[in-house]
Amino acid sequence: MGPIKHSGWTKIWTDISHLIFPNICLVCSNELSIKEQHVCSFCNQNISVTNYHFFKEPTEMDKLFWGRVKVNATYAHLFFEKTKASQDILFNLKYKNNQNLGVYFGKEMAKNIRHIEAFKNASVYIPVPLHPKKKFIRGYNQSEAIAKGICNELEVEMKTELLTRTKHTETQTKKTRFQRWDNVSSVFRVNSAIKTHQHIVLVDDVITTGSTLESIIRLIQEEHPEILISVVTLAIA
Ligand SMILES: [Zn+2]
Repeated sequence: MGPIKHSGWTKIWTDISHLIFPNICLVCSNELSIKEQHVCSFCNQNISVTNYHFFKEPTEMDKLFWGRVKVNATYAHLFFEKTKASQDILFNLKYKNNQNLGVYFGKEMAKNIRHIEAFKNASVYIPVPLHPKKKFIRGYNQSEAIAKGICNELEVEMKTELLTRTKHTETQTKKTRFQRWDNVSSVFRVNSAIKTHQHIVLVDDVITTGSTLESIIRLIQEEHPEILISVVTLAIA
């Protein structure tokens, strides 16, 4: 028997470590085959991606901001409602302390964002902050995990100190849009160091009505109307 080449040992080691630490799908927690990485092929097929990076015309997400605030560019990676897999992703991200899932999808998002011209000169990605108490209870901010994945892949800076949260938001469902805005704008604080950036990108896990992002954008634009603001979210509801 001849000597086993280095790549042979690497493969054996991979096989052994797979037996000891089976990799599981970040979405459904089923065991991954050796050929699968992070997300199993079943879940991968069931994720309903937006393909917004191919759009020449305005997307549903662009239209959400029309008549409300000026947004430079938008991107959402997947549709929330269409498949169970998409719902599982957001659920695991929010409640199962699954940071790797956020980082993984952040990287996937970045591979598409990279092709959108309007994002090219963005110099910083800013996750929408959670209240510190909520972050403490949950262990991490899911939007920060997503932003981390995006920034690792694009080699752009992520900054959490430029936008912070001060108060708990009360339940918003019974309020009018104006009251909601008023409520939200009093909970976020913009750090004046934000003005060193000409183009910033806000990162959130899911966009539904867009009212939280609208308030944050208004707040930044009141002080710094010259800054271009873009928005990316993992999902659009
Ligand atoms: Zn799966």
